[in-house]
Amino acid sequence: MIRKIDIHLHPMGGDTNMEKYLRIMDKHNVEAGLLHGLEEEGWERPEFKGETANDALVKAVKAHPKRFYGSVCVNFSKGIEKTIDTIKKYGDQGCIGIKLFPNCGFDPNEDKYEPIWLEVEKRKMLVFSHCGWLLDNDKNPAMRISSLDGASPFHFEVPARRHPKINFIFAHFGGGATYLETLVLTSRLKNAFADTCPGWGRWVFEQNMPGLSAMFRNKLLYGTDNIGEVYGLDETWWTNKLTSLGFTLQDIHMYFYENSAKILGIVN
Ligand SMILES: [Zn+2]
Repeated sequence: MIRKIDIHLHPMGGDTNMEKYLRIMDKHNVEAGLLHGLEEEGWERPEFKGETANDALVKAVKAHPKRFYGSVCVNFSKGIEKTIDTIKKYGDQGCIGIKLFPNCGFDPNEDKYEPIWLEVEKRKMLVFSHCGWLLDNDKNPAMRISSLDGASPFHFEVPARRHPKINFIFAHFGGGATYLETLVLTSRLKNAFADTCPGWGRWVFEQNMPGLSAMFRNKLLYGTDNIGEVYGLDETWWTNKLTSLGFTLQDIHMYFYENSAKILGIVN
């Protein structure tokens, strides 16, 4: 099996320190994973028993430092100071990135967020954003969730231009309706990347959407949202799909492993 890094994982309730998931990763040659937090109010799972996803992922990273890396979920709409405090708190605990859900009421492109980017840059952290459609908030159906507010790659253009040292990763290939923004930014900015996480990240490839064969080979990352035992089938599917788009075997290794290894600073 091809060696892999999964750039898009979340901590799972009932799997302390991700021990069970690690065994699945071992079986399928997934050498490392980037664990992302979740919005506290909305998607905190009952299985976490009161622990936030941010705290759960820190534990897993500490238990398995060579296997898991951490990215803390922050919500800019809670205020700039609070966001920076959270980044500092979890950065000090070893998190190497921040995870965003801009669908929840903020536009990362706004100038007022500049102090946040400065803190992220100072700490050499990466930015990983949910892009495209977001599930309902089961706990609070009245919560404003919008695909338009900021959850697409162009909403990161200004900070990405201003902060070339910060790597920006667009999850779900930047969203189904906005995947062309991904193609534009990843081809023009050295610090823009995208993962192929399901649903829309996989959907655009299933549909053979125009332009995908032009995707810069060093910008595409393998991510799954905890696909689990399906890693094997997934590897075959992506290998065939990318080959059909003109990717070489070396390009495919970059997609599954090397591009993410560079971003995470994994030295082989
Ligand atoms: Zn996710």
